[in-house]
Amino acid sequence: QPRRIHRALLSVSDKTGLVDFARELARHGVELVSTGGTRAALVEAGLAVRDVADLTGFPEMMDGRLKTLHPKVHGGLLAIRDDAAHAAAMVEHGIAPIDLLAVNLYPFEATVAKGADFATCIENIDIGGPAMVRAAAKNHADVAVVVDAGDYAAVLAEMASHGGATTLALRRRLAAKAYGRTAAYDAAISGWFAETLEDGAPGWQALGGRLIEALRYGENPHQVAAFYRTPEVRPGVATARQVQGKQLSYNNINDTDAAYECVAEFDPKRTAACAIIKHANPCGVAEGETLGEAYRKALLCDQDSAFGGIVALNRTLDVEAARLITGIFTEVIIAPDATEEAIAIVRAKKNLRLMLAGGLPDPRGRGVTLRSVSGGFVVQSRDNIVADDLELKVMTKRAPTEAELVDLRFAFRVAKHVKSNAVVYARDRMTVGIGAGQMSRVDSATIAVRKAEAAARFAELPEPLTKGSVVASDAFYPFPDALLVSIRAGATAVIQPGGSIRDEEVIKAADDHGVAMVFTGVRHFRH
Ligand code: 5GP
Repeated sequence: QPRRIHRALLSVSDKTGLVDFARELARHGVELVSTGGTRAALVEAGLAVRDVADLTGFPEMMDGRLKTLHPKVHGGLLAIRDDAAHAAAMVEHGIAPIDLLAVNLYPFEATVAKGADFATCIENIDIGGPAMVRAAAKNHADVAVVVDAGDYAAVLAEMASHGGATTLALRRRLAAKAYGRTAAYDAAISGWFAETLEDGAPGWQALGGRLIEALRYGENPHQVAAFYRTPEVRPGVATARQVQGKQLSYNNINDTDAAYECVAEFDPKRTAACAIIKHANPCGVAEGETLGEAYRKALLCDQDSAFGGIVALNRTLDVEAARLITGIFTEVIIAPDATEEAIAIVRAKKNLRLMLAGGLPDPRGRGVTLRSVSGGFVVQSRDNIVADDLELKVMTKRAPTEAELVDLRFAFRVAKHVKSNAVVYARDRMTVGIGAGQMSRVDSATIAVRKAEAAARFAELPEPLTKGSVVASDAFYPFPDALLVSIRAGATAVIQPGGSIRDEEVIKAADDHGVAMVFTGVRHFRH
């Protein structure tokens, strides 16, 4: 619903654009009310402005700590105009509605950036400003709130086209931005505070989480670290119940997360599955009739690396799997649940952490991932594309056989969880060679083959399991070279996104060797 603006409260530290904005408001017949500095600037420009002290009956006091914290202000912002009881309260207490609030906050961030002393930074924490912004944003059904001088124009444009009113759509957009601003503001304060403390970690709560616990240290012993939970509820390492074992370390948490996200790709109703992870990369993933079988197959891929690894399972941990997993040194087991008997077996390994998540995260679920960069952070939506949902396009003369197709989807499913450049060989729904995190795809393809050769020696197999395997690449082949490495190693079918300008060359290389190739049209970079 459009809402006419009759009265506006302007209280801004940054006076950019203020006078022009106020003059336009006045032209629309809006009554202006302001705090000290803002009012002085407007009066100087020749505008009629009422002093907020006049409205509240209280002077500004305590170095400006108290200016607008008063029912006459907050009642005017919060009252629901269509609510009879609210309207009656306004009349009874002489509260007049405020229809537009323009506030930008004390420059806390800039004060810190200038290297100001502690007391000055504290004094630059705005109290009344955020209170008003949050009140107005809550009541956006009736009130427009502007926290950024860049939005003055949008408000004026609507007033011009809507007879001095704003639309609900604009007010909602402004409210969302307002809460974003107060959240960021408090985050900045919390972050700064944390840095002034001896052990700064708890203040990182500001990033939007709730502290689970301070960690012994970060990725390395000289780094401080803490573990947080976000409001988003997803079964995983941050919400799992730790049944036993040592405290999780920073690296454990990362790796356990990678492991659980990977194994969650496998629908437990369809198959049992196991992922073994080291340094956030899988060193073996497999499906099986039972968890025990899946674990044994996963272990075959790279037994050396699996030592000290993290094991994720997609079904309730049972006795068979517990016996096998505790047979080698393992850091963490994570599963949706565990039987009492299985827990008893794990208990024999005092340090081994057992995490029960109560369910699996939905691989198709929405969500965000974030990563810090110098001076900021980047956020993206979760990679929630699942191999089962992909339409595969056959690009070669030969189409994959049914068995190859099953393994192709399996390999691509795993490749999504391998750091780029990722090349994954699979056979019989198990990984048989994984090349991760290389700067060249040829290197990833080659390393995976070398690992398969080592695994064959370890298990005393007549030949590496890459013979007769399929191969997945997380991104397109820029040249046929990496593909030729895989073909030489015995891969008979390939799955990859496609989309290179040399696709034709790559397809021809496959055709020349009777290899089947499918395109997914979807890339799974993971850095
Ligand atoms: P002015 O320059 O108009 O004197 O002050 C404007 C600033 O005061 C704005 O940044 C606004 O957010 C802030 N402000 C408004 N009301 C209060 C209050 O009650 N307490 C504090 N600490 N700041 C306020």
